[in-house]
Amino acid sequence: MLLISCPNCGSRDETEFHYGGQAHVAYPENPNELNDREWAEFLFYRDNTKGAFAERWLHSTGCRQWFNMLRDTVTYEIQAVYPMGAPRPAAFPPAAPESGTASLAADSTTTGTAAPSTAATSIAASASSASTTAPEGATK
Ligand SMILES: [Zn+2]
Repeated sequence: MLLISCPNCGSRDETEFHYGGQAHVAYPENPNELNDREWAEFLFYRDNTKGAFAERWLHSTGCRQWFNMLRDTVTYEIQAVYPMGAPRPAAFPPAAPESGTASLAADSTTTGTAAPSTAATSIAASASSASTTAPEGATK
């Protein structure tokens, strides 16, 4: 469980808060000029960052105020808590290289080339066999 430091109330359990999604998603200046694809991207497309990620949080059972938080999505480390409207602070440079190299090394070992390549070939093999049988069945 996270211990979140509300800017108004201090440190509280994560259960008192609600996650509000990605922070700093700017509302379009003129939404009427957007096509459907651009509007859908504004509404539904969000970053899926591995590492420091700026997100909105609501202290729903406390002061009921929104605030922004910079949190590492890998380590859950809360790097900064700052008010709505404030610019995103820079991520911690000192902690990132140490944990970054460790996590990169772990990723390279856990997601080695053997497992994904065999999965990709099995998917490709099944897809190619399915694609060869499907047209024949469709034409007959
Ligand atoms: Zn609060």
